Amino acid sequence: MQNVTLNNGVEMPILGFGVYQIPPEQTERAVTDALAAGYRLLDTAAAYENEEAVGRAIKSSGIPREELFVTTKLWVQDAPGEENTERAFAASLRRLGLDYLDLYLMHQPYGDVYGQWRAMQHLYREGRAKAIGVSNFYPDRLLDLVLNNDITPAVNQVETHPFFPRTADQELMREHGVQIQSWGGFAEGRNNLFTNPVLREIGEKHGKSVAQVVLRWLVQRGVVAIPKSVRPERMAANIDVFDFELTDDQMASIATLNTGGSLFFDHRDPEMVGWLSKRRVA
Ligand code: NAP
Repeated sequence: MQNVTLNNGVEMPILGFGVYQIPPEQTERAVTDALAAGYRLLDTAAAYENEEAVGRAIKSSGIPREELFVTTKLWVQDAPGEENTERAFAASLRRLGLDYLDLYLMHQPYGDVYGQWRAMQHLYREGRAKAIGVSNFYPDRLLDLVLNNDITPAVNQVETHPFFPRTADQELMREHGVQIQSWGGFAEGRNNLFTNPVLREIGEKHGKSVAQVVLRWLVQRGVVAIPKSVRPERMAANIDVFDFELTDDQMASIATLNTGGSLFFDHRDPEMVGWLSKRRVA
């Protein structure tokens, strides 16, 4: 597995496994299968309500802790105030059965962002999180956070796929030492991604599937990817993207698929701010 080096020297696999929308009762099986397929980066969140199942799969895998890279995320309403952030972090660790995290992300750019970040910096300085970062931060919010705090986020996990490639955002992150990580790398199949003719034709040239072309395109751009699947054969295929390379022309063809915006929602849309700020996590 190829790694990226974060701004504090921590090594992170460039390809991992995401567990969003995997029901808790299926998650232990899925993570067990993903670890068997060779994934070592696991991406969960308090809001996914499956941290305990991820933890059980980690425990029963017998894989040494230092070989794994485990990310979870802090939910908006769990956080107001530094004490609540520390409590939410401790609860996530307890559910995962771990004594440190490799990466702790602020899930949304809402609520007490500065209080959350102060507490996360504290967790980082104590070594309880080896790296801290954010998610869903558009350039304006990211830059504000970077310019007004001691510690620069190591990662910004944002919607990134062929229809919304975030090339300029990635450049800004690079300038400030923030690693981009893609969520929804397949756009969850929206816009008929898996049958897209441009992606299919490129795949045929390499003997690879559309999914593999998309993941190769992400890692070739230096974007960390975390595809989700509950099917072992797809898990195996999705990690098998290190034996071919897309040409400059193929990268340019994929760039033409850019629709210029989100296929899900814009975190700057007031309706979304309201909706996400009301959602509570058990
Ligand atoms: P995704 O990875 O873009 O797409 C997952 C979908 O693709 C599932 O329906 C899966 O179905 C299907 N799929 C997977 N591999 C495939 C293949 N080789 N061929 C055909 N279909 C395939 O969606 P995502 O889960 O939303 O995003 C990935 C991860 O990013 C999440 O799991 C989560 O960890 C993270 N995320 C973060 C945020 C955030 O706000 N920070 C938001 C969303 C997601 P099967 O399972 O049936 O194979």
